[in-house]
Amino acid sequence: MENKTITLSNGVEMPMLGFGTYKIPDGLEVIDSVTNAINVGYRLIDTAWFYNNEKGVGRAIKNSGMLRSDIFLTTKLWNSHHGYDITLHAFDQSLKNLDTDYIDLYLIHWPGKDKFVDTWRAFIRLYEEGRVNAIGVCNFLDTHIQTLFDQTGMMPMLNQIELHPWLWRQNTIEYCQAFNIALQAWSPLMRAGKMLEVETIVNIAKSHNKTPAQIILRWELQQGISVIPKTTHIARMKENINVFDFQLTTSEMQEIKTLNESRGIGSDPYTMMLDFE
Ligand code: NDP
Repeated sequence: MENKTITLSNGVEMPMLGFGTYKIPDGLEVIDSVTNAINVGYRLIDTAWFYNNEKGVGRAIKNSGMLRSDIFLTTKLWNSHHGYDITLHAFDQSLKNLDTDYIDLYLIHWPGKDKFVDTWRAFIRLYEEGRVNAIGVCNFLDTHIQTLFDQTGMMPMLNQIELHPWLWRQNTIEYCQAFNIALQAWSPLMRAGKMLEVETIVNIAKSHNKTPAQIILRWELQQGISVIPKTTHIARMKENINVFDFQLTTSEMQEIKTLNESRGIGSDPYTMMLDFE
């Protein structure tokens, strides 16, 4: 199954569709899920220090028989680890957990209030030392990104934010596109549930002989947004990656766009202070 790639601003190639691992417990569960995902064809695995499953993710990649270079591995720096020196230390911890010697994409998990520029300076060092192939952020809105650039001269290569038909942050999307910052949607299915029952989406799904989840993922991908759906079920892993063999029409794309209610499940990036000192 074809999994298209996107080229980040520094030339690094990244699969457009990856496998999310939030809330999959460490140990056998995450090892099984990541193993199945790799077998099904996923080549991008998204984890985070905060998910407390980096060890299992690393084990599954090691056991997969794939070359390390065949997997695109993302992890994230947690809120309690902001600051220059702490970031460098936290990065070493993640590398050790993941049992690898480099990370493909290292992301700041949340901006917090006032330490993210120091953190970003450490990210730039890790990048310049070749210990990460690309650096980026999550949950950064335009103003946060502008601050990073004004103070360091280095734009993130990617911004991972909550995006789905009910929450479409047009301003941030346009800002990122203008500066060649790739966008990646977290909770691209809004954790499934009610969004899979929206009539517009269900009808479009029927007309393409696809599922509502496939329509949503296709809608995001067709706008150039990378997606990282999570599931522990093999059938859904196959379903979610099987979205490269059809196209939504311009009017279908537009119809889904009208569903935006600026309603997400995540915290507000400006006020999310969990674990910040
Ligand atoms: P998703 O939108 O990926 O939805 C996951 C939920 O949907 C699970 O409950 C899963 O259930 C269910 N599901 C998945 N596929 C299908 C399907 N085809 N049909 C029906 N139900 C389905 O939510 P996540 O919050 O997990 O987001 C994806 C990833 O994004 C995370 O795992 C994580 O890697 C990342 N993330 C990043 C954040 C950040 O701040 N940077 C914040 C949140 C997430 P089941 O497993 O039972 O199949």
